[in-house]
Amino acid sequence: MKRNILSRTNALVSLILVVGFVLTALLSYRANYAASLRGIEQVSTLSSEGVYHQLTITFSRPVNVSLTMANDSLLKSLLQEEDASLEDPAYLARIREYLGAYRDKYGYDSVFLVSEASKRYYNFDGLDRVLTPDEPENTWYYTLGSFPEDYRVVVDNDEAAAADNDITVFVNAKIKGPGGAMLGAVGVGLRVTSLQRMLQTYQDQFGVNAYLIDGGGTIQISTDHTGYQPVSLFLLDRYGEEIQEQLSGWREADVSRSFWVKRADYVVARYLPELDWYLVVEQDTSALLRQLAGQFVLALAIIAAIIVTILLVITRVIRSFNRQIIALTQASEQERHSMFEQATEQLFDNIYELDITHDCPANRATERYFESLGAPPGTSYEKSLRIVAEKQIKEGFRQGYIDTFSPKNVQQAFDAGIDSLRYEFMMTDDGENYYWMRITARMVLLEGDHSLHMLTYRQNIDAEKRREERMRQLAQTDEMTGFLTKMATRRAIDLRLEEAPARQLHALFLFDIDNFKQANDLHGHAFGDSVILAFTDAIRAHFPPSAILGRVGGDEFVAMVPVPDRRWAEEKARELADALDQVHGAGDKVWHATASIGVALSGQGQPGRLSLYENADAALYQTKARGKNGFTIYQA
Ligand code: GH3
Ligand code: MG
Repeated sequence: MKRNILSRTNALVSLILVVGFVLTALLSYRANYAASLRGIEQVSTLSSEGVYHQLTITFSRPVNVSLTMANDSLLKSLLQEEDASLEDPAYLARIREYLGAYRDKYGYDSVFLVSEASKRYYNFDGLDRVLTPDEPENTWYYTLGSFPEDYRVVVDNDEAAAADNDITVFVNAKIKGPGGAMLGAVGVGLRVTSLQRMLQTYQDQFGVNAYLIDGGGTIQISTDHTGYQPVSLFLLDRYGEEIQEQLSGWREADVSRSFWVKRADYVVARYLPELDWYLVVEQDTSALLRQLAGQFVLALAIIAAIIVTILLVITRVIRSFNRQIIALTQASEQERHSMFEQATEQLFDNIYELDITHDCPANRATERYFESLGAPPGTSYEKSLRIVAEKQIKEGFRQGYIDTFSPKNVQQAFDAGIDSLRYEFMMTDDGENYYWMRITARMVLLEGDHSLHMLTYRQNIDAEKRREERMRQLAQTDEMTGFLTKMATRRAIDLRLEEAPARQLHALFLFDIDNFKQANDLHGHAFGDSVILAFTDAIRAHFPPSAILGRVGGDEFVAMVPVPDRRWAEEKARELADALDQVHGAGDKVWHATASIGVALSGQGQPGRLSLYENADAALYQTKARGKNGFTIYQA
């Protein structure tokens, strides 16, 4: 039951905690996830802006410089003069000077000029070579005319250059003569060693990958690639296809296009018109998702640890609470029990249960009680009843006790419709002191095996009985003298004569105070009372406690005792006549009392109290008649 409560509490708390914590973790995961996605979008966009800005700076000035040179009339006239000055060292010097001036001014790696007419390639050192269409490294020149724009930016990322990450950007501008005919090309070349480093910085700092790709998807510049070994971004299986879809046919300058690829990568793309390339900035979220998942798992682990800790604490608290409750309950139960025990002990000494049908004690307490009185274990109830009667119950009550509670009588009583029995008797625990006990028995027929059971309540009624006895005695005795009343005297004498063995001789003494009226008349009623008290005290002093002493008239008393013979009675009468002859009072309230005594013995005349009394009365009459103050033994 308690275990049940504990596990139910734990389950409930676990449920609440799990639901609460997991919900919180999920919400924070979702919030973090959304925030992270927003972060990714922002970082990618800003990175794209940054890279684009850097690229613009890198490329715009060379473009301007190249276009300035291409439109310079000095350069145009120089080209027009070329045909006539092919072998003129001064002409070459002028060209060298012109190109060198730009090189020095802007610090470019190369400043070059190509003549359409002679296909000569000049640089700041003078004539470098003559271009022929069959060499691939010259393709740029032969295709330049086919483009509508005035200039082209070409990145030379050939093998030799790529080996030391040396990327050279060439800006080639068309030189147009009158009517738009192409006179040649002029331009600058600059090594962009910082380009890949710049992309690497963005990758390191913001976790974005930046690619410069051409319209066919080939990666021209990235942290890992240069265009030398053609690798297509569109063929990268993770997101290439979608990027291709997004970029195909899109050539808007100055705007960016951003999109999620497979909900895992965020891509920001820009078209670079100068290069006819695209800048693709891409951020992979898988690392972030892994990090978030890791945080989520960590959160779950922390939740589990917290729940386990809380459950342990709850278990401990509930257990100790239970222990305290149990201890308190037990203590109060104990207290209640002992109070109940005390209370019932005062009412009922013992409660026992007996199986009447099977003639045996019905519980262990009853068995123990019988055993304590010497009944061997397994003794039948009827036998045990006799043992109890023998050991504890006062002789005169034994038979009544056995007769009342014997299995046979109980069964008979129950069959006759009586369901309770009662018997009052005197019993002893130590064999010496007797006290009154009442047994109230209730019979019940058990539903299970239909056996008749008897529950006995033993109630100590000694105090009650003694009170009753006192009341009875009070009703039977004369308050003033303590002698029996006239009626009680009669009953006592009758009983004594009945109970005594036939041969036992009894003597009945009858006393009368001589001239007692005088005492009252002379000294008042109270004085008379004191005379009566002294008179009865004297009588009591001369008889054993077992003697029946009674007051049968105002100044008339009896005493009845068993006597060995007539002589004994005569001696006693003489003794008493002497003892009762005494002077009462003091000072002027003095009165001399004497007694007239009549004695009768049993066995004279009719048996029984009446004849004995009459005889004693007759003897007393004789004493009075003789002149009082003396005694007479009745003589048939
Ligand atoms: P006798 O010698 O013939 O016995 O004469 P007596 O005076 O004793 O006469 P009797 O027996 O007729 O009188 C008894 C008197 O005792 C009458 C009554 O007033 C008085 N008496 C009875 N009971 C009490 C009592 O309780 N106290 C007192 N003080 N007097 C009592
Ligand atoms: Mg008298």
